[in-house]
Amino acid sequence: MRLVILGGPGAGKGTQAEQLCHRLRIPWISTGEMLIAAIATQADLGKQAASYVEQGELVPDEIMIELIRQRLLLPDTRQGWLLDGYPRTAFQAEELDFLLEDLHQGLDWGIYLNVPDPILMERSLGRSRLDDKPGAIQRRIELFHQRTVPILEYYSPRGRLLEIQGDQSPQQIQQEILQGLKID
Ligand code: AMP
Repeated sequence: MRLVILGGPGAGKGTQAEQLCHRLRIPWISTGEMLIAAIATQADLGKQAASYVEQGELVPDEIMIELIRQRLLLPDTRQGWLLDGYPRTAFQAEELDFLLEDLHQGLDWGIYLNVPDPILMERSLGRSRLDDKPGAIQRRIELFHQRTVPILEYYSPRGRLLEIQGDQSPQQIQQEILQGLKID
């Protein structure tokens, strides 16, 4: 199965994605985690991305599109994948479609974890990642609304968007995702 999971910072995407990937035996591809790992090891990608990530800004589309292209060419993606944190802009969403066309693959579902902003803020403040400083969190929430929410309009007319209220327990959310995707 090929999935994307969408939601603001602190929506619980990582938690849900990990469980779902374990169950479906597909790789969890988190662009945020890839960038943070690249920053920690001072890889070229990390050097290019560090200032954006630390300030809660979006890394330029061209860098992200190439990162995902390389990642989806790896052999572990044959049985499917779950993208967490990608796409994040309308441009990335369109480019993902072009890439999938080239790879003769199709997206099965977009999963949107809908969580109110004050809860996003509170949860992110409780973490300790390098981009979990109040200013950066505020900016990430803002950018989520400006740049990522429009993607929901891109996916929903295709009838492939599953919206879940994300301010429930992680178990309840996982249950609703499994039901929505008709996985038993
Ligand atoms: P995340 O863990 O998904 O919240 O991502 C952490 C940070 O990595 C974001 O605040 C951005 O700076 C950067 N990032 C992750 N994914 C993307 C993307 N698809 N496009 C642009 N920037 C991204």
